[in-house]
Amino acid sequence: PLQGLQDPALLKTAAYVNGAWVEMPATFGVHDPATGQELARVANLGPAQAAQAIAAADAAWPAWRERTAKDRAAVLMRWHALMLAHADDLARLMTAEQGKPLAEARGEVAYAASFVEWFAEEARRVYGETIPTHDKTKRLLVLKQPIGVCAAITPWNFPLAMITRKVAPALAAGCPVVIKPAEATPLSALALAELAARAGLPAGIFNVLTADAQNSIAVGRVLCESPVVRHLSFTGSTEVGRILMGQCAPTIKKLSLELGGNAPFIVFDDADLDAAVEGAIASKYRNAGQTCVCTNRFYAQEGVYDAFVEKLAAKVAALQLGNGFEPGVQVASMIDDDAVAKVQAHVADAVAKGGRLLAGGKLRSGRLYEPTVIADASADMRCAREETFGPVAPVFRFATEAEAVALANDTEFGLASYFYSRDVGRIFRVAEALEYGMVGVNTGLISTAEAPFGGVKQSGLGREGSRHGIEDYLEAKYLCLAGV
Ligand code: ADP
Repeated sequence: PLQGLQDPALLKTAAYVNGAWVEMPATFGVHDPATGQELARVANLGPAQAAQAIAAADAAWPAWRERTAKDRAAVLMRWHALMLAHADDLARLMTAEQGKPLAEARGEVAYAASFVEWFAEEARRVYGETIPTHDKTKRLLVLKQPIGVCAAITPWNFPLAMITRKVAPALAAGCPVVIKPAEATPLSALALAELAARAGLPAGIFNVLTADAQNSIAVGRVLCESPVVRHLSFTGSTEVGRILMGQCAPTIKKLSLELGGNAPFIVFDDADLDAAVEGAIASKYRNAGQTCVCTNRFYAQEGVYDAFVEKLAAKVAALQLGNGFEPGVQVASMIDDDAVAKVQAHVADAVAKGGRLLAGGKLRSGRLYEPTVIADASADMRCAREETFGPVAPVFRFATEAEAVALANDTEFGLASYFYSRDVGRIFRVAEALEYGMVGVNTGLISTAEAPFGGVKQSGLGREGSRHGIEDYLEAKYLCLAGV
């Protein structure tokens, strides 16, 4: 699948530290999840290289933060343009190592690039404050300064966007970054590094530490424990987020965490059902259900329950399942055998507890799991509590608005939520009552660079994107100026 790259120099297998490509005697395999075929072997870095990257970032920091915001923004804009110019190659690399349909991968390249553009623009809007004084002999000011060396650990489900959403605001703010991409998808991260180098990011400002699953733990520990690293941004499971938070405690590191979700999707009796079905499909089956904002639980009100599940099942049965490189494919390979096993376990559990399969329900071949709809879902099923992270839609029944809100909120997670209604009073009541960081009302697609992405409860800390997304990378310094 990598033969067709227009610019073969984007296929990198060495890590990128201090502006240099770092080969290692030890390597790890990167596989096409759809076929199991090994695509490349990539340098397997360890704690020593992590320490070198941190030192390089720290050394490069003063010159970068001294540049004007406009100057840093110009570098980011070049990076953005290069990403778009090489969108086809970036998409191919992504589909090859991650499996998602090529059209979705292209969409992710644009989405990933949009964060670089947005934060390039935001770089020039990092305003401080002047505060009306409490004492006529003093003047009170607030400066916003870059926090320092930042570290980021990213997941495989969005191999580019989860990097740019963290790296772009850090660079815009004047901070250098060391990232450790997911072991399943290092090729996308390294292609991004190659483009960053071409864009003119100075050595040491953007470092990519590739490592296998085992070394990732050791590299992660170095990033967390380093007193030089002032901020850690992580997207991944709540379980790993908790470990990293603990490891960051001794150095009181500032943290941005984007963790698991258990998104509810509520369809009220007054919803536009066709629109709800369309939104349901968009929010559920993208990336084969492997996103943290994918709906995990559908709740349909009694009056529309039967009609909703019937329409949903009909559309889902028509979704095209296949290899991500085949034209027209809408749902492609899952990432690995563990992901497939979890989906199989959740479906078997639901069926054993009275769930009715209306579409899908089987592994078709390889890691292609059929888009699935399960009616008559109940609260005792695993899929009611755990994130399935696959193409399975369990649909629960409810009677009242209060019941729907209570069911939706009955989870330790609080990332994305969705509901469909045409009653303006209900829209405000429900939107305000949902304990989630994000609420989609009459839409299943909510992410964009302009809006704050993040969760409450055990779904995380901080917000990415929007004007808030750069704040995590800045410290406020209060100046009290006397003798005036
Ligand atoms: P997922 O379930 O999406 O794979 P994980 O939370 O397991 O999510 O992994 C997300 C990222 O965290 C990956 O880059 C992975 O290598 C990294 N990771 C996993 N465990 C640890 C750990 N103990 N320390 C540091 N990084 C880790």
